[in-house]
Amino acid sequence: MKFIASTLILLLSASLTLADVRFESKKLEDNIYTVFGAGGFTGGNHLLISGDDGVILVDTSMPDYADMLIATIDDLVDEDEVDFLINTHLHADHVANNGFFADEGATIIAHQGTYDTLKNKGLVSGGGVSDAGENMLPHVVFSQSMTLYLNGLTIELSHIPNAHTLSDIIVYIPEKNMIHVGDMLFNGIFPFIDLNNGGDVDGYIAGQKQILDMIDDETKVVAGHGPFASKADLKKAHDMLVDARSIIAMHKNKGKSEDEVVEANPLKKYHDDWNWGFITTERMTRQVYRGL
Ligand SMILES: [Zn+2]
Repeated sequence: MKFIASTLILLLSASLTLADVRFESKKLEDNIYTVFGAGGFTGGNHLLISGDDGVILVDTSMPDYADMLIATIDDLVDEDEVDFLINTHLHADHVANNGFFADEGATIIAHQGTYDTLKNKGLVSGGGVSDAGENMLPHVVFSQSMTLYLNGLTIELSHIPNAHTLSDIIVYIPEKNMIHVGDMLFNGIFPFIDLNNGGDVDGYIAGQKQILDMIDDETKVVAGHGPFASKADLKKAHDMLVDARSIIAMHKNKGKSEDEVVEANPLKKYHDDWNWGFITTERMTRQVYRGL
């Protein structure tokens, strides 16, 4: 009985947790929204644009949430299909529902490196690599930049080389002074720099600088993870990373091993604000050390 009761409590709390996960949105302009998970992890933040040419969605959310995402899109723009899906980079939490949307008729647009990684390596997540179905492969790819003229907008896609991964792109809409920067910004939390998939500390810093030079104080910035952002938020994240890099480089240049640097806890001043479940202060220290 005790076992049954505790199992029941476990089941109840599990279903409560799942029921809590939802999408929320913020209207940026008429027919343009950012959509993001709440109450649990659904994947990277989205940009949603609707208009005469169809529905454009940036990033896919995680497998469990495809139907919920479609329902949210239906609520917001009265459409239940995505026509153009843009992947900001190769990670699972940005591409995992590619197959779902492709089967529903979406054209998937991504950097060549996202295509190559899905085809040759598979679906890469923080937990490892799993098989990627053929229907997950993007249909339209580019290497440097590409412009979409859709829904009366200029949508500029630009590659940021070797930064968070090997296949990062940013999505910039100059008429609306709006940008989705993918995982070039973890807003208010330590960034993940995926050294195993083409990520690079100095590339990440250079990429953020490039974006900072493109935008102004009024630009609406959608971060890959974390709350809706501004240039000031990106600047803050950039300054933190530049500082973290220089502190850890100083330790490394003194000949300290990775473990010795972790032991010295050189990023402790950032811990309270920037540490989070996936990229802890220790993991941040290790990835910057390894990335130098
Ligand atoms: Zn990512």
